[in-house]
Amino acid sequence: MRDPVEIRRRTDRLLALLSRRDDYGELLAHGHVVRQVEDADAWRAAIRAQARADRIEVRTGADGCAVHALVRRRDDDTGDGEYLAALKELAARAVALRHEPILVVRHRSEMLISCDRCPALGYADAEDHVIGGSLLDTGCPNEEEPRETPLSIVWARSP
Ligand SMILES: [Zn+2]
Repeated sequence: MRDPVEIRRRTDRLLALLSRRDDYGELLAHGHVVRQVEDADAWRAAIRAQARADRIEVRTGADGCAVHALVRRRDDDTGDGEYLAALKELAARAVALRHEPILVVRHRSEMLISCDRCPALGYADAEDHVIGGSLLDTGCPNEEEPRETPLSIVWARSP
């Protein structure tokens, strides 16, 4: 499935989720968050409620007023093999179009890859088998030879 409108919608939703500036947003972006709060129970309940809504498993804890939350990695959530296959396809197709692919973010089974020298973005969801975006549709506008990136070296060149 490569409907550009659907890819755009998914990309925007993922970026909005990860650009949240509150404690929950930091938890999503970094996988953990630590705070000093007045009401540890209320803070933990609020984090857990948001995580439940997003179907993300978190573990929270408190030591007096210091609270923390941690995203639980569920390795069976999406097989690592499926995730890596999607990452490899994104990287290979970006390199074929002379982009310099860099990983922007991984969130559960979703990932965003951008080009280091143009604004193109690629999106994939390894679980839903959705892949697309400008990174895979249009060539890089830069004329110089693309530089290698960790993604292009590791993923786009391996057989
Ligand atoms: Zn580019």
